[in-house]
Amino acid sequence: AKDLGRANFQFFSSELNARLQERMALEAALRCALRSDGIRVEYQPIVDLCTGRAVGVEALARWTDRHLGVVTPDRFIRVAEECGLISDLGRRILQLACRDLSHWLAAGRTAMQISVNVSVRQFREADLIEQVSAALELAQLPPELLCLEITESVMLQDTQANETTLRRLKELGVSLAMDDFGTGYSSLSYLKRLPFDKVKIDRSFVRDLAVDPGDAALVRSIISMAHDLGIAVVAEGVETVEQCRFLKRHGCDLIQGYLFSKPLPADAIETLDAEGRCL
Ligand code: C2E
Ligand code: CA
Ligand code: CA
Ligand code: CA
Repeated sequence: AKDLGRANFQFFSSELNARLQERMALEAALRCALRSDGIRVEYQPIVDLCTGRAVGVEALARWTDRHLGVVTPDRFIRVAEECGLISDLGRRILQLACRDLSHWLAAGRTAMQISVNVSVRQFREADLIEQVSAALELAQLPPELLCLEITESVMLQDTQANETTLRRLKELGVSLAMDDFGTGYSSLSYLKRLPFDKVKIDRSFVRDLAVDPGDAALVRSIISMAHDLGIAVVAEGVETVEQCRFLKRHGCDLIQGYLFSKPLPADAIETLDAEGRCL
């Protein structure tokens, strides 16, 4: 039994060791990517359900490492948060997104809004407000063309501090979206109190919309409640015509998903046909 215990321990510690090494390699590669412009951004169109036109895009970070290959944003954002690189990474993504938007505008594209994700730790950084205003200034963008997406789970803690940060961002003139709505179990009363302009219904509720009566009911009530509060609704992860029809019928304002377009490189957005398809 003693030997078995030791074997187990050795197995466990080598497993742990391997994971730790992988984490450290990822962290080192991420530092390197930040120094060498290795982080890119792609943009997914956000479409107005009334007109069928792309009225905005969401910036989504992309990273392909020479040795590690493609690392998904879920993964490298988490690592960046854990090792203190999120501030640098967040600032970089914000700058790239603002720069790309100002290029599209200079090239004659009609004004569209750009949405940038703010992670949990980034939202709590002391210099978030400065980061945002510096990025707007650098790209010479009107603040109302920038929307910050903050996940609902951020609102579960520290409500007083959150409220202050959100108000200060509103004072800058940027727009605010509550991301992944429906997953965080937060009270709907937050929406009434906090200065959000949009909610984004999480993909997990959109997926089975056409077949699951529970999800359908939930989505309908999010839409009507948000509208009563004067908040616009975006549905994420829209992949089928059925989902799209349901959302349109129930008054959803905007959709985002593979049905219209996958995330695209910046130059594809510049020339993107603003006319909708499939709607
Ligand atoms: P999110 O903010 O909820 O972003 C939407 C995710 O859904 C994106 O995944 C997008 O590619 C994917 N998606 C969009 N339409 C569809 C669809 O029709 N079907 C399916 N199956 N998926 C769809 P992605 O790019 O892998 O990003 C995953 C998450 O990583 C994001 O979720 C966000 O939380 C985080 N993330 C990505 N970029 C950034 C960033 O620049 N900063 C921060 N803080 N987080 C980011
Ligand atoms: Ca988002
Ligand atoms: Ca989301
Ligand atoms: Ca999500």
